[in-house]
Amino acid sequence: MMEQYIEIKAANPDLLLFYRMGDFYELFFDDAVQAARALGITLTKRGQHMGRDIAMCGVPVHAADDYLEKLIALGFRVAVCEQTEDPAEARKRGGKSVVRRDVVRLVTPGTLTEEKLLSPSEPNYLMALARVRGENGYALAWIDISTGVFRIVETAADRLLADVLRVDPREMIVSDTLFADPELRGVFDVLGRTAVPQPAPFFDSATAEHRLARFFSVATLDGFGRFSRAEMAAAAAAIAYVEKTQIDARPPIARPERDAAGTSLFIDPATRANLELLRTLSGERRGSLLTAIDRTVTGGGARLLSERLMAPLTDPASIDIRLDSLAWLMRDSARIDRLQDTLKTLPDMPRALSRLALGRGGPRDLAAISAGMAAAVRLTGHFEGGEPPAELTRALDAIHALPAELAGRLSATLADEVALLARDGGFVRDGHDGELDEMRALRDESRRVVAGLQARYAEETGVRSLKIRHNNVLGYFIEVTSANAGALMEGEAAKARFIHRQTTANAMRFTTNELADLETRIANAAERALSIELSIFSELVAAVTEEAGAIHAAAAALAVVDVSAGLATLAEEQGYCRPTVDGSHALAIVAGRHPVVEQVLRRNAEGPFVANDCDLSGQGEDGGALWLLTGPNMGGKSTFLRQNALIAIMAQMGSFVPAGSAHIGVVDRLFSRVGASDDLARGRSTFMVEMVETAAILNQAGPRSLVILDEIGRGTATFDGLSIAWAAVEHLHEVNRCRGLFATHFHELTALSEKLHRLVNATMRVKEWDGEVIFLHEVAPGVSDGSYGIQVARLAGLPDVVIERARAVLAQLEEGERQNPAQALVDDLPLFAVQNRAERKAKAEPAGEGHLASLLETLDPDDMTPRQALEAVYALKKAQ
Ligand code: ADP
Repeated sequence: MMEQYIEIKAANPDLLLFYRMGDFYELFFDDAVQAARALGITLTKRGQHMGRDIAMCGVPVHAADDYLEKLIALGFRVAVCEQTEDPAEARKRGGKSVVRRDVVRLVTPGTLTEEKLLSPSEPNYLMALARVRGENGYALAWIDISTGVFRIVETAADRLLADVLRVDPREMIVSDTLFADPELRGVFDVLGRTAVPQPAPFFDSATAEHRLARFFSVATLDGFGRFSRAEMAAAAAAIAYVEKTQIDARPPIARPERDAAGTSLFIDPATRANLELLRTLSGERRGSLLTAIDRTVTGGGARLLSERLMAPLTDPASIDIRLDSLAWLMRDSARIDRLQDTLKTLPDMPRALSRLALGRGGPRDLAAISAGMAAAVRLTGHFEGGEPPAELTRALDAIHALPAELAGRLSATLADEVALLARDGGFVRDGHDGELDEMRALRDESRRVVAGLQARYAEETGVRSLKIRHNNVLGYFIEVTSANAGALMEGEAAKARFIHRQTTANAMRFTTNELADLETRIANAAERALSIELSIFSELVAAVTEEAGAIHAAAAALAVVDVSAGLATLAEEQGYCRPTVDGSHALAIVAGRHPVVEQVLRRNAEGPFVANDCDLSGQGEDGGALWLLTGPNMGGKSTFLRQNALIAIMAQMGSFVPAGSAHIGVVDRLFSRVGASDDLARGRSTFMVEMVETAAILNQAGPRSLVILDEIGRGTATFDGLSIAWAAVEHLHEVNRCRGLFATHFHELTALSEKLHRLVNATMRVKEWDGEVIFLHEVAPGVSDGSYGIQVARLAGLPDVVIERARAVLAQLEEGERQNPAQALVDDLPLFAVQNRAERKAKAEPAGEGHLASLLETLDPDDMTPRQALEAVYALKKAQ
């Protein structure tokens, strides 16, 4: 047996091997050590291998899902190895034959289907990354085998991580070679255990087309649309991995759809995290934007909502189509209630379908499909008499296309209450199958006969406590207490009739020919009944999987209805407005609020949220406005910055927004540098992270972008910081020409508005009253008249002596700063002087790449002051 184990384990080196032995999955050697530690179960020993004890632990089969759940959550991958023959057959082969075993499935985070292992409201994506030799770009393909979704996109090195995080896969496979590529080190560092290397042949673009065609059983892929070689390679790799993990089973995966790059708002990874779209910075769902706006009532709806939030659109017409659905629904809130009541009864059809197709489903999954179809039909009733707009009409069409015949067949066949597992039987409705009814009657009748027999034997023997019982070892038997046993063992008649089977501590057990016959009849009837049920089960499963396409389409449509109804509910409940989204360069928000903070304040009864206007509208390509926001800590600057970015995201995902009115010219890229997302674990200081993120913004933002920057340059000495912030504002205004909000403590910056005509100074208003500051949370034009740091420090409870001393120091410092050196800078735009000089120099002495590399060689980031780092950046730029 150990030989067999070692052979199977060798084929699955990176996975924990669950090796089936009777009612347990056993783990051995190092697997056992790891699993015992991870699961908190006992580690034991079993025999020896090469002179050393073999470590072992085990989990009971019936509870395996719970243990798998834990292991997967911890990032393990598991190979499930089952007995593939009856032990009796192994014995027949003679001698010491070991029962045949095979790995039937690999359980990995990206290929789950079990209800217990999946979160109902989140998609569960497996992603593949591919690059084709000789081509520059990358491609990503992702599949959710629990719902059949399959998408592909082309991407580039600089937006790869953003695209990966937008999809948020549970598992990403890459070829060994790509995994070792230094260019992608940063990406894999961020992804951590999510990224797993796989053999390079998986990603071979030459065989990709063939592999896909075989999986989808088509002769050519022409009907799928045109895909690049990298896209094919990624798609085929994803399919190869699905095949590898699912072994023989074939999940119902839809044909790949291109997720057209450029049709969604690009949100870089730092911004995604900082804006707390799906999770807060501490990793929780509570407190995220998604949780605040989610009023969906189905798993499919919740998944679609999070997908829309992660990929807001950039095409105004498509956005309007979504907004039309909400506006139409909001005309009749009673209809929304009815829709949601029906949606609440809707089971997760795609996930049930996947389990059925993979041979892991049971009667309950069939019942889910049946109930789902019935609910879908009821749902369409709520639209009667109305004329829903395009998106909802399309959804209704997909629901109407559900095969009514299959729905009828399922509901006619399945019982009202069904068991989880097919082998428990009892899920076929009485009256559906004549022979089944007969067998059930026989089985049940026989049970009544047993009861009759017991009464008769009690009567005849005079032992009133005589019982007929059943267990798995003896089957049916007659049981009497030892004291009463005489009545069954004395006298010829009794002896001939009652056959002694067993003696226990205080009872004796007997059988009779009559009872044995009856038992055979019962067993045969039950067995026959079950086999009829199982064959009905497989017919139904086949019929359901046959209609996978229609069921998926209807489920997607139901998700659209749920998302629209959810967002309509939200808009009504929170008093949101319909945004105007068009191709202009406007960003004009009147009375905007922060969708999350507003709800928190209301829930905690902490007073109303103060609405604020924001107008960054630009005139055409000339560029948008930049607001420079000053004000004390706790004044509400971050909240204001974020709320405007969130409003743009919500508008472009097709939601109403928390504002009095909002006019938004589509944003193509959203950047932020907010909060201190510490990256210390990766060996970068807070300041370095800030600079890296700022660099990304200054290099990438364009006239359609929206940029929010919170306190740039705060992580270093004052003059360093001020200089960097100063130059960054100039760059944004002159080069990027984007719409932007810039919060800062450097009041000196406000002088820039004299020179930069689209720069607007704004401040968070505060009132001073009796030596205390009162935050009004109101944004007003102009410049803050103080930073109130000392007042805020006092509110925070700094000792009085420290406060007093700070006041004195401040007074002295302010005295020294009367002549503001910043004013002189306004007269020149130094950044461009630097840039021009660099360009002139570069032209004069063209430097090769070797030069750049040797310059880089001399840099040691860990050993630099921020100022040196900045100088190095300039030097590199010059050398380019
Ligand atoms: P800053 O970035 O200026 O330090 P924050 O944006 O973090 O300030 O806001 C501080 C606190 O003030 C927040 O926790 C929030 O509860 C409250 N706040 C901010 N803006 C508003 C507003 N517009 N209305 C009501 N409360 C607000």
